[in-house]
Amino acid sequence: MFRPTVEQEKCTGCGECVDICPTEVFELIDEKSVPVNEEECLGCDSCIEVCEQEAITVEEV
Ligand code: SF4
Ligand code: SF4
Repeated sequence: MFRPTVEQEKCTGCGECVDICPTEVFELIDEKSVPVNEEECLGCDSCIEVCEQEAITVEEV
């Protein structure tokens, strides 16, 4: 399985990762992306590619 994480200090709350994730892993909370459904992550890396802040990492665990 995969574990997506967001560096909160880098996130600008643009919402791009929320929109692109096919399994709705992320939710904006207080204008920051939070991986609320990390167990649903498919490891597709789309969120990494779309994040201009390079705030997201996806680790295989
Ligand atoms: S794409 Fe990056 S900057 Fe934008 S909300 Fe997601 S984590 Fe934050
Ligand atoms: S790697 Fe893919 S499935 Fe996992 S959080 Fe990112 S966009 Fe969603």
